[in-house]
Amino acid sequence: MRLGFGGTMGGLGSGEWSRYNAKTTVESSSVLAMKIFRGCIVRGYIGQITWTRGNGNKSSIGYRVNWNETGPIMTLFYRWADKEDIEIPVRLQSTPMQFTGVRWWFTCPLIVDGVPCNRRVGNLYRPGVSRYFGCRHCHRLTYQSCQQAHSVERWQDRLLSRKFAGQKNASGGDK
Ligand SMILES: [Zn+2]
Repeated sequence: MRLGFGGTMGGLGSGEWSRYNAKTTVESSSVLAMKIFRGCIVRGYIGQITWTRGNGNKSSIGYRVNWNETGPIMTLFYRWADKEDIEIPVRLQSTPMQFTGVRWWFTCPLIVDGVPCNRRVGNLYRPGVSRYFGCRHCHRLTYQSCQQAHSVERWQDRLLSRKFAGQKNASGGDK
């Protein structure tokens, strides 16, 4: 199995995927739910999300929204395992809502065995040992029981704060 990104991210070493081939549960993962970005899918938006993990430590990721010729891109950036700066461009998609406005979705950015996933998903996951966010399918997350699935939702509700700098990206472009 080979896991990586198109575009700017380059590929992952082939050992990376197999390292977490063992089933990973969402309890040990980071979850990004599109619903927490409501109202923030605006060109030039820069923000940060901070949450408390089960062990009491805080985690945070930064994000930036830009548009290119294919539509909006949300770039996620964070420090992985305290040693590597990660930057993931995630394409966003929208579907019309029943009455007004649109619903936003992530496009899974992972490429597995050379095949871009491109699934339209409401949540992105990052298993504890993985560098990258991707859909549940790509990360092969498994729910051990229905009850644990619900605990994931509670975990998301523990998101502590959303700090939005609301800065305009002067360049306006996608880097
Ligand atoms: Zn995927």
